[in-house]
Amino acid sequence: MQDLGRVSLLLIAPGTIAVFAGAFLWAWVIERKRHYLLMLSGACLLFCAGALSQLFYMPPDLGLNAISSNLLYTSAVLMVAEGLLHRSGKRFGLTIDLVLIISFSCLIWYFFYVDRNLVARVYIQNFGFGAILLVTTLRLTKLASGRVVDRVLFWVLLIFSVQFFPRTILTFGLAAPAGEAPFGETFFWQALHLSIAVLGAGLAITILAAAVTDVMDDLRYERDIDQLTGVFNRRGFEERAERILSQHYRVALLLCDLDHFKKINDTYGHSAGDQVLRSFGALLSKNSREGDLVGRIGGEEFAVLMRDADVRAAKLMADRLREALDEMPLPGRLSGARITVSIGVAVLQPTERLGPLAERADLALYNAKNAGRDRVALADS
Ligand code: GH3
Ligand code: MG
Ligand code: MG
Repeated sequence: MQDLGRVSLLLIAPGTIAVFAGAFLWAWVIERKRHYLLMLSGACLLFCAGALSQLFYMPPDLGLNAISSNLLYTSAVLMVAEGLLHRSGKRFGLTIDLVLIISFSCLIWYFFYVDRNLVARVYIQNFGFGAILLVTTLRLTKLASGRVVDRVLFWVLLIFSVQFFPRTILTFGLAAPAGEAPFGETFFWQALHLSIAVLGAGLAITILAAAVTDVMDDLRYERDIDQLTGVFNRRGFEERAERILSQHYRVALLLCDLDHFKKINDTYGHSAGDQVLRSFGALLSKNSREGDLVGRIGGEEFAVLMRDADVRAAKLMADRLREALDEMPLPGRLSGARITVSIGVAVLQPTERLGPLAERADLALYNAKNAGRDRVALADS
């Protein structure tokens, strides 16, 4: 009966972590390009295997059990670390992982067979795992200034890493409990399992929330990008433009409309027209400054929103774009074609919103077209 109680209590942590192994695996099946989800599922399974091997004395030999469960735990911790680093495009690498796994195994072997010392084994594992996770956390400090979910992840990971140190000292102390058999009933062991069940679950939930946020951000980004040219589509452009307008005063809008584009399509074919649109989108991106916004807001109509630009800077930029288009190399089938653009330029007036600003730029574009195309026109202020 007492044994049943011990087993049920100690099954809480592996049970909880097994649920997360399933959750990470399920998340990976949906989003296979996020390999870190599979790594985290593997880490959870390794932890469960380690806990079960200790709980059910598999293998029954105490020394072998200590070594094999340590191997599973160390691999689990390293897999969590590598998974979290992988999500941020970093890693320790296989060499470091193997060196750590072998070192931990040798130490556990030494402190079992050569100098039998439970205290040393407990401290090596707990301080070692805490240190691996702490180094991982420190390599992810960028998260602390990221999105809310990343900031929460950083702090939960930090707490999870740091708790290994005081928890071991406070619950295990500096001397081993008398006899090793009832070790599973010690306060240390129960605190360890409780902390893994509660804090580990908190960490896992935060990682899953971060993964969901990653997916949503990606979807939102794809929704806002024009598939043909790779610049923002109308929706993406307008949403970001509104944001810039609410934060900056010296803003200029350039509306660029390719001239006689219908004729390009009619003469060279629709796919040649597509090629021109792609090249023009790339040209706008290449020639705009960092922080400027480029979008394709209609069929052959593009917009550039410039920050910190007055009329002079905006006019200069528009002229430069017109000239760059003139020099833009065209694919063979378009040889002989001359592609030009008309640009309407408007500079933001105090208290003006995006709608009226775009209307004035559009009127300027209309004037550029009427004046003969292939030119820049400024809007009235
Ligand atoms: P203007 O100089 O007055 O601007 O004349 P235009 O021919 O450029 O203007 P119009 O609005 O008459 O025609 C725009 C053309 O752009 C018509 C449409 O077939 C073409 N177009 C719109 N979207 C795409 C696209 O995604 N790919 C291609 N190849 N052509 C497109
Ligand atoms: Mg046109
Ligand atoms: Mg047009």
